[in-house]
Amino acid sequence: MNTSSSSTTELPQLAKIWQETIDWCPTESQQLQLQSLYTAVVAANQQLNLTRITEPTEFWEKHLWDSIAGVGELIKSPSALKVIDIGTGAGFPGLPLAIARTEWDLTLVDSTAKKVGFISSTAPKIGLTNVHPVVSRIEDVGQNKQHRHQYDLALIRAVAAVNVCAEYALPLVKIGGTAILYRGNWTQEEADGLELAVVKLGGEVSKIDRFNTPLSNSIRHCIYIHKIADTHPYYPRNVGIPTQKPLG
Ligand code: SAM
Repeated sequence: MNTSSSSTTELPQLAKIWQETIDWCPTESQQLQLQSLYTAVVAANQQLNLTRITEPTEFWEKHLWDSIAGVGELIKSPSALKVIDIGTGAGFPGLPLAIARTEWDLTLVDSTAKKVGFISSTAPKIGLTNVHPVVSRIEDVGQNKQHRHQYDLALIRAVAAVNVCAEYALPLVKIGGTAILYRGNWTQEEADGLELAVVKLGGEVSKIDRFNTPLSNSIRHCIYIHKIADTHPYYPRNVGIPTQKPLG
């Protein structure tokens, strides 16, 4: 890779995040996959309007680094986890995690067909065989036996209000598994509302991980919800209801 940070087509090897990326993605083939993912997003973005984050440094921090950092210590999990990424968009956080942990099995769901089409064509091109793209509303996926209570880990970044994210994610997680809600700022009001919602969904908030991104120093909170009981069949409610009447 080019070491110049002025390149518009290659990811810069910025010292501050490069070492961490090497820890997560130690092989040259993984590092090339990160580069190939970036190149594919930028190329497809001209037609598909996938993301506003295309400048290489910002892409590295806000898509690649942020996606992997959000799972915290779980990135070192000795198990091969079954993971679902809800409202994945152009594949974040799912695709960087699929590159970092090739033995994880990742289902990437989005309701927008063009975004899932991008993932379906890009994953094999960059050599990923552990990615399963699905076009659907997540409310339908959560009521489908193939997916309900099937996942060790459910991830959701930048999709909806926090209680809506909990209703989308928890029905998909098996008992003993974890949902991680990727958030920016985090307020006491959100925390109080979430506590009430997760009880109804069979979960409990187990950890709130607060950190700053390495370059722009933006605030992140990752909310970990441990699944302690099956979710009642009533949840998730029909398409559109979770956003119209958020749980509280
Ligand atoms: N997670 C990606 C990221 O962080 O870059 C994309 C975030 S984008 C702002 C939100 C995505 O969620 C959109 O692609 C949208 O289509 C998807 N989405 C919103 N509600 C959804 C639902 N109920 N079911 C499936 N996808 C949904």
